Amino acid sequence: MQARIDGACARAGRNPESVSLIAVSKTHGADRIEPALEVGLRVFGENRVQEALKKWPPLRAAWPDTELHLIGPLQTNKAKEAVEGFDVIHSVDRPKLARLLGKIIEESGKRPALFVQVNTGEEEQKAGVLPAAADDFIRQCRDEFGLSISGLMCIPPSYEEPSLHFALLAKIAARNQLEKLSMGMTADFETAIELGATHIRVGTFIFGERQSTNQ
Ligand SMILES: *Cc1c(COP(=O)(O)O)cnc(C)c1O
Repeated sequence: MQARIDGACARAGRNPESVSLIAVSKTHGADRIEPALEVGLRVFGENRVQEALKKWPPLRAAWPDTELHLIGPLQTNKAKEAVEGFDVIHSVDRPKLARLLGKIIEESGKRPALFVQVNTGEEEQKAGVLPAAADDFIRQCRDEFGLSISGLMCIPPSYEEPSLHFALLAKIAARNQLEKLSMGMTADFETAIELGATHIRVGTFIFGERQSTNQ
């Protein structure tokens, strides 16, 4: 894994330390996650709040320097638990959620890093703000809801060339002075690194095929 990250960084003239590997452990139990912790992985991604909050408290107690990222869609009724349980939320994508996150963060004093998800493929079934609405939404998050936004996240359509989507995400980030880019999965993380990814979200390559249909 690290050799492939290093190779992509070398091709792009980037420092490998500028790429954070998020090991996506969704659907996998503690028996699969513990070996990954034992070999030194410390940054993990989950796509469901409930599943993560059931699974992670004992693991985090044993490995306290673990960082947990929410990479799946966030319902408003889970926002409070998400702020409390995750260090980074990658799926801020609508005013109602953003406003609520602002309120919860202010009240709780917990400050997860936040990424705005952009639906670069404009797919109906996919979460994320549309590219044309992204600038306004980011401004609204900052000015109206008092949120500090770290970067952008996207999940390209599986049937399209991902590089166009990664380039679009990078462009939207640059014009909004956002430094972090969460993009790239098992099939395309090297392309994502070459186009500027700072966070790659890799599940299958690390843990093998997932059993359940939970994506
Ligand atoms: C499942 C998931 C991943 C990991 O996908 P793999 O193809 O298994 O690497 C990355 N990002 C998101 C948002 C996911 O839901």
